[in-house]
Amino acid sequence: QLRRLLFRHHFLSSYRSQRASDVAQQKCDVIVVGGGHAGTEAAAAATRIGAETLLITQKIETIGALSCNPSLGGVGKGQLVKEVDALDGLMGRAGDYAGVHFSILNRSKGPAVWGPRAQLDRGRYREFVQSQLLNTPRLTVIEGSVEDLIISAADPEKPGKHRVTGVRMADGAGEILSRSVVITTGTFLSGSLFMGRTTSPGGRMGEPPSCAGLSHSLREVLGLKLGRLRTGTPPRLIKDTIDFSFAELHLPDPQPTPFSFINKHTHCKPEDQLPCHLTYTTPGVEEVVRESLHMNSHIQQDTKGPRYCPSIESRVLRFPGRQHQVWLEPEGLTSDLVYPQGLSMTMPPELQLRLLREIPALHRVEIRTPGYGVQYDFVCPMQLFPWLQVKCVQGLFLAGQINGTTGYEEAAAQGLWAGVNAGRTALSLPPLSLSRTESYIGVMIDDLVSRGVTEPYRMFTSRAEFRTSLRPDNADLRLTLRGFEELGCVSSRRYSEALRVSRGLSEALVALQSVTLSSPRWREKLRDAGISEVKSTLISGEEMLQHKEVSFEMLASIFPEIFAPYLEFSQRIKIEAVYRPHCENQKREMERIQEEESLTLPPDIDYLSLPVSLSDEVREVLDRARPDTLGAATRLPGVTPAAIIHLLNYVSKTE
Ligand code: FAD
Repeated sequence: QLRRLLFRHHFLSSYRSQRASDVAQQKCDVIVVGGGHAGTEAAAAATRIGAETLLITQKIETIGALSCNPSLGGVGKGQLVKEVDALDGLMGRAGDYAGVHFSILNRSKGPAVWGPRAQLDRGRYREFVQSQLLNTPRLTVIEGSVEDLIISAADPEKPGKHRVTGVRMADGAGEILSRSVVITTGTFLSGSLFMGRTTSPGGRMGEPPSCAGLSHSLREVLGLKLGRLRTGTPPRLIKDTIDFSFAELHLPDPQPTPFSFINKHTHCKPEDQLPCHLTYTTPGVEEVVRESLHMNSHIQQDTKGPRYCPSIESRVLRFPGRQHQVWLEPEGLTSDLVYPQGLSMTMPPELQLRLLREIPALHRVEIRTPGYGVQYDFVCPMQLFPWLQVKCVQGLFLAGQINGTTGYEEAAAQGLWAGVNAGRTALSLPPLSLSRTESYIGVMIDDLVSRGVTEPYRMFTSRAEFRTSLRPDNADLRLTLRGFEELGCVSSRRYSEALRVSRGLSEALVALQSVTLSSPRWREKLRDAGISEVKSTLISGEEMLQHKEVSFEMLASIFPEIFAPYLEFSQRIKIEAVYRPHCENQKREMERIQEEESLTLPPDIDYLSLPVSLSDEVREVLDRARPDTLGAATRLPGVTPAAIIHLLNYVSKTE
């Protein structure tokens, strides 16, 4: 432990001694502003594709900091972590190193919507991300604050089109030139912190907001539309003062599943994992919230907060009289703190303590740091291209909370994609996008740039219409090969592993299709497994695997000579076999849409009352735009491929 601390101290001090003035006048390919989850992935990705990159962040020691919850992944968010990992990002491996409680959420449902999740040790997470970044070739990290962007006209003939050529540092530390800039300032852009009646400038407790020049440039110089959002965090509790006997014990999965495709194990041993506890609010909590409303400035603001991660004040006001869940989550292996998920609050600290003590498990709790709220500017993301470049500024990319999202995973995924494209722009390569059919990252970016946000955006599996193909288990097959062959952001080691897996799975599936399971030996095995009825006697191995009770291991025990070589992929083969018919169906539908691009849509069609399954939002967009053809409808912002399929079916039937 001591050696680790000394190493860390030496490591960070040598980096601190690199100042902006040391790198000023040098020209780099990409500058990334901000070392949060978006910024770290952006810097690492730009570097991986071969761009000389400079990461500028206010404090090196907060690189990899988890501002709020000590956890990673979950339903929808876990898919993003797997995709970031498949493109060789840091987040999945950091999670495997720092996780102290691993579980797969939604296990009772199909594997397409499983949510890999872990509680994290905050210190370890930071340690991993810092050690990776500070040891990356072609990447320089400096501590400092960016005051402003250096902007010039992209084309004197075309007013309103700009080009970014670098950044200006605060405190007169000079200018640094670059071909691309990625801004990932999170909650720091014109950030204000709220606790009780007190408001102070800040991006996170104890850290100043971004310099005002940055907000001013984005809004006034570049004419971008900015909005304001808010979020909050709960108080951190001293573990020894919690009475866990009043809470339900929740154990992790006995065998932790790593996030990363290249990790066979997590750093934490199964037996060393920590439990979580679940408890509930009481009517006393509601009373304290109501009594303290006049002393709680954050809650009185109109600014929109995260709907799916609301403060206790919002929960009580929206759902009066209800009991609300409170998860007591460990903050780390050796930490003496507990994070009460569900109790984000912004009332004065003395009332926070009173509120907490209304919960039986917390009746004698003590607080280490009180909860607080933050409000910040974001840039309306419809002003971005799908490769996350600002439309009116060549070379300027935005990623993370600044685009109106919330959450580490959403930030990291955008950061990675912005980093790849900032690097490509700097290296004079054309930008690339990810489609909704190939990734959750594509779904998120398409949602952001085509629909914008009115409240903090977070990922859900329901946002992806092709979720049966976009599974957490196959993110490597979807993205790693493209990441290596086309983008160059994936290492050859990871690529070789993905190729090996891809070949193994393909061979196993071919073998499964070629085997007909009608032998008496097989029937006996089926009976043992409790399956007495098989509709056809000529059923292939693949069809057999589609039965819930049949596992690949069972098939391998009957035909070891055919299937035993593929036993390491058992779970993946089973999932592939189950989902293949759905995925092929979806693929056919997509091909149909492409073929029917020129199909004419009747001019008098009443989209608002069309008897098909369309959301109100899609109906309104179609009604307003009244596209002539199906192809024109597919290009309308907010009209999803699923909606297009319903529309196509309807029009084909009525033609
Ligand atoms: P951040 O992680 O905020 O990182 C921004 C980085 O940019 C920081 O390192 C900062 O120092 C640096 N920076 C800023 N300005 C400059 C500059 N001018 N020059 C150089 N460096 C700069 N998410 C949830 O999902 N649920 C929640 O309930 C939740 N609650 C939160 C509560 C609080 C109080 C805070 C602060 C955040 C909360 N979050 C929550 C959000 C979560 O932390 C973010 O979604 C995530 O960290 C965003 O990542 P990011 O990289 O965009 O920005």
